Amino acid sequence: MMRDWPDLRGRLTPHKPLSDLTWLRVGGPADVLVQPADLEDLCRFMARLPGDVPVFPMGVGSNLIVRDGGLRAAVIRLGRGFNGIEVAGNRVTAGAAALDAHVAKRAAEAGVDLTFLRTIPGSIGGAVRMNAGCYGSYVADVLVSARAVTRGGEVITLTPADLNLRYRQSDLPEGCVLVEATFEGPAGDPQALAERMAAQLKKRDETQPTRDRSAGSTFRNPAGFSSTGRDDDVHDLKAWKVIDAAGLRGARLGGAQMSEKHSNFMINTGDATAADLEGLGEQVRKKVYDSSGITLEWEIMRVGEPAPDDAGERHAETTKET
Ligand SMILES: Cc1cc2nc3c(=O)[nH]c(=O)nc-3n(C[C@H](O)[C@H](O)[C@H](O)COP(=O)(O)OP(=O)(O)OC[C@H]3O[C@@H](n4cnc5c(N)ncnc54)[C@H](O)[C@@H]3O)c2cc1C
Repeated sequence: MMRDWPDLRGRLTPHKPLSDLTWLRVGGPADVLVQPADLEDLCRFMARLPGDVPVFPMGVGSNLIVRDGGLRAAVIRLGRGFNGIEVAGNRVTAGAAALDAHVAKRAAEAGVDLTFLRTIPGSIGGAVRMNAGCYGSYVADVLVSARAVTRGGEVITLTPADLNLRYRQSDLPEGCVLVEATFEGPAGDPQALAERMAAQLKKRDETQPTRDRSAGSTFRNPAGFSSTGRDDDVHDLKAWKVIDAAGLRGARLGGAQMSEKHSNFMINTGDATAADLEGLGEQVRKKVYDSSGITLEWEIMRVGEPAPDDAGERHAETTKET
């Protein structure tokens, strides 16, 4: 649909293909890609955007399959005006566009341990939204507060309780764009923190297809069984193990493949479409269920519409995040 979009000092690009902006290199066009210059620019745009236009905030696309028909939404992607990093004592405040890796390194140099962020390839906005974490630490362990712009263009401050951070999930009000987060990490010796980050990078390269186009873990690790009396968010039953047990390591559909190196990583081998990737994931879910009775839940978010010729086949959803 042709629209007159509100003015922006930053960059507005109608019908922008999103494949270049996602790690998996798939995705049809956004109705408009919005790259605000700074906070004031974002607030003004949001306040003036007609209420019937969905807003989809996007980080660096490291946890997304954007379907081939694209997103019927204003896709907000934050850049330079939102990537500052400041350290005061043990507190680190970072813009939502700052990369997790940069934040971890700056924090470590100042003697603050946010090392778990070093190997997560996303941005701070995506990290807070997804409660990103690894090696036993999560955003929920270190988040002090976050700032966001509401769909109506107001700046609000959110506490961890407001966000209700849990395993790869949070409650962010619909259409809200995170713009900044403050973390508090334990003190650490900069040299020791640098060594820990180097070890984590090495471990990733040894165990995960870090040089392929992926979106990290495809499925959540199935929850521990409540009958043991442990919390439901114990995830020691690993998704990769149940995928292996179903004989699906290396399984392919079109250009999509479950990685030979790590069977819970789905990769684009070169010419995959979003439909190939999502279709392969659904086949894996079905076969794992048929062979073990375990229902795998997607960790990668799938958003947008299927390409017109796919419509009605596999995916009935539209811009809803799933
Ligand atoms: C090789 C690889 C390894 C990975 N390893 C890990 C890991 O160990 N641990 C882990 O937790 N994740 C991992 N991931 C997944 C991914 O990096 C994280 O989920 C990351 O936090 C996503 O950040 P992003 O900026 O790419 O967000 P995107 O993928 O762009 O978006 C993800 C979600 O966050 C929302 N979002 C993004 N920015 C904002 C914002 N400013 N305001 C509001 N909402 C926003 C989007 O709307 C979407 O719902 C891995 C991915 C890859 C490719």
